[in-house]
Amino acid sequence: MAKAELMDYAKALEQFEVVIGLEVHIELNTKTKMFCGCANSFGDEPNTNVCPICLGLPGSLPAVNKRAVENSISIGLALDCSIAPNGRFARKNYFYPDLAKNFQTSQYDEPIAFEGSLDVEVPSGKVFTVAIERAHMEEDAGKLTHIGGNTGRIQGAEYSLVDYNRAGVPLVEIVTKPIYGAGDEAPELAAAYVRYIREIVKGLDVSDARMERGNVRCDANVSLRPHGQAKLGTRTETKNVNSLRSIERAVRYEIQRQAAILAKGGTITQETRHWHEDKGSTSSGRPKSDADDYRYFPEPDLVPVQPSHELIERLRAALPEKPADRRKRLQAEWAFQDLEFRDVVNSGLLDQIEETVAAGAKPQAARKWWTGEIARLANAEDKDISELAITPADVAELAVLVDAGKINDRLAREVLTYVLAGEGSPAAVVAARGLEVVSDDGALIAAIDAALATQPDVLDAIREGRMQAAGAVIGAVMKAMKGSADAARVRELLIAKANQ
Ligand SMILES: [Zn+2]
Repeated sequence: MAKAELMDYAKALEQFEVVIGLEVHIELNTKTKMFCGCANSFGDEPNTNVCPICLGLPGSLPAVNKRAVENSISIGLALDCSIAPNGRFARKNYFYPDLAKNFQTSQYDEPIAFEGSLDVEVPSGKVFTVAIERAHMEEDAGKLTHIGGNTGRIQGAEYSLVDYNRAGVPLVEIVTKPIYGAGDEAPELAAAYVRYIREIVKGLDVSDARMERGNVRCDANVSLRPHGQAKLGTRTETKNVNSLRSIERAVRYEIQRQAAILAKGGTITQETRHWHEDKGSTSSGRPKSDADDYRYFPEPDLVPVQPSHELIERLRAALPEKPADRRKRLQAEWAFQDLEFRDVVNSGLLDQIEETVAAGAKPQAARKWWTGEIARLANAEDKDISELAITPADVAELAVLVDAGKINDRLAREVLTYVLAGEGSPAAVVAARGLEVVSDDGALIAAIDAALATQPDVLDAIREGRMQAAGAVIGAVMKAMKGSADAARVRELLIAKANQ
């Protein structure tokens, strides 16, 4: 649907109530796959981490990865779920080239974790309690690469390559119940929810949680209904959205698209949809009915998963702090105002700033560098901040150099560009390029005298208390010394001279 045909967002919200539902797939970072001993490793030569089990060859027998089960239980517990005392795997039957077995081993009516909830704060500061229906274990499929054509999709491709290295990688799928009442904040809530899930699995160290690698993938269900109507509207499911920003945009787009259709008396097709980052729109995928027949049946080759009470309690005791509690603690420790802290959270830089503070920077300095100059440089290069070649330790070192008066802000920004260019740590760059501020009085006094020679009235002005006159001399000194003068010291020396 063309942009012009979409309904205005505010108008859509006036006419319709938004209901969303989110399915998040987490790829676990276990050493081996879910049901065999093949390496679970990203980026290896295609079809090198495969065996008869993950290829589904006749006669092969799977065995459940113990660590994957423990990780799934930890995720369930972190989401306040109950853990099933007796969970079973099921076969989800379907035919597709990336699925060598012709069925996916998943869980159906007996998920390992169920009935949980997660408190999620959206950018406005409002907190929503998202009800979790279930978290179940399953395996990933292989990866298809479509060659020829120009979209990377199967349409228009000449042939497709299949890599089964990912087939059998452990996944946990977390499914929410329908989320009501988010109103115009539904897109932000969807993105914030995925941000929290990512934080939880990173905190548990059970996934690399890199969205760009598909470690965390979100399917977003959206439906609309007229205000006051009890029956849910028909939903669409936008598949595999792989960045937080895209999740927010995809949900917003679907609201506007569906509202435009419904307002004209049209009907929504129940289907999956693809998100197109470049166009900022979704397009029709395949029709999806509730009666999709996957002929689920219990997996006969695997015994039920029966976690002991002791195991569950041991994993519960090892849970990391909840995201909401962590936020509260960090804000208090850093003494940030609500708005400052919210900016940090919304910029997605909480981890970096926490690590920078741990490496010795003051919280405000860490915040300033990450959300200011570094974010600006990432933006200018159209990169994600995580792709920049700078670590929290580098930023801490930079902040400490500024704090100690070794470099000023302007020099620090220059140092930053050299660090990003791979010239080494901030201290190494300062040393190699001789970028320290000049606070040597002799050099500063010479520069001040030179500036005064062209502005002889300044000393009188200062003596008369017109301090703003000092600015012109300080500016001239900074310019003469190419910004490397210690401005505070120049000011002190100038005032001392005036009062001689
Ligand atoms: Zn294998």
